[in-house]
Amino acid sequence: MNKLSVIVPCFNEEAVLEKSPAIIRDKIKSLADSGKISSDSFILLIDDGSTDRTWDIISQLCRTDKTFCGLKLSCNNGHQNALLAGLQFVADKCDACISIDADLQDDLNAIDSMIDKFDEGYEIVFGVRNSRKTDNFLKRWSASFFYWFMSLLGTKTIPNHADFRLMSKKAICALLNYKEKNIFLRGIIPSMGFKNCCIQYDRQKRIAGKSKFSLGKMTNLALFGITSFSTKPLRLIFFMGVLSFFISIASFIYVLWSYLGGESVKGWTSLIASVWFLGSIIIMSIGIIGEYIGRIYSEVKNRPPYNVEMVIYEEEKEA
Ligand code: UDP
Ligand code: MG
Repeated sequence: MNKLSVIVPCFNEEAVLEKSPAIIRDKIKSLADSGKISSDSFILLIDDGSTDRTWDIISQLCRTDKTFCGLKLSCNNGHQNALLAGLQFVADKCDACISIDADLQDDLNAIDSMIDKFDEGYEIVFGVRNSRKTDNFLKRWSASFFYWFMSLLGTKTIPNHADFRLMSKKAICALLNYKEKNIFLRGIIPSMGFKNCCIQYDRQKRIAGKSKFSLGKMTNLALFGITSFSTKPLRLIFFMGVLSFFISIASFIYVLWSYLGGESVKGWTSLIASVWFLGSIIIMSIGIIGEYIGRIYSEVKNRPPYNVEMVIYEEEKEA
């Protein structure tokens, strides 16, 4: 039977933590009772540098119930880093891990299907929201725009999937080989390969408290997602330079024609021709530098060039 860990990032969630841990624990207990997971499965509550009573509640829970364990980060590092800390912590302690938000907006009952898929051999199971009815207009619109823009830039993201997902131990260990410090899990995990699938669920309202993602934090996350996956904006600069170069040729023909027709003021012809020509050369040069910066950027990230899914190796072959 597989040992499951559930990781829950919490940032100033004192209101939510009065209710949600018991609900998650009951779910884990019922899954263990029905033989779907082992009885030593556990829940890891991660305090992402909260300033309220979040850690007091977590430590109290850990003292009274061995299903819970806690991890306190020294300051607020953001949802993605809190999740990463959790994944690192559980990597060698479970067979599979499910990440879920503390506010229980994600459907706990979807965990059953996630485990079924894991048992069928899927290494990653993405939870995908059926609809965004519980989100306000701004959040719905900005999310759609974000997914559209990411796919335009050629980045693999799963639309309407946040961070409610199951990962096998193998997938977690592969993820930990990505050494980049600024990690955008929603982009990296779908790009890792491995056998994966999606399951749909209805997103609920928060059980208590308020969203910890202000517009500023959301914009930061979106910009971060775009810049940590795509160097296409840099290539765009070069193409803009090429476009300006063609415009400079056209403008050169036009100003020369005006000059020969005697329609131009003295000095205008040379001025316009050189402005366009120099402008296009400058933009193209920036684009070329951008290409190199893009290459340096991907080298610095030091992502693994491949992930191994399976190995067939017999000792006898060596002899
Ligand atoms: N969270 C976190 N660190 C942060 C912001 C949020 O660990 O800096 C946690 C938060 O406690 C919650 C989850 O991330 O468990 C999702 O946050 P929230 O529900 O506020 O986001 P929303 O659902 O509104 O997008
Ligand atoms: Mg939420």
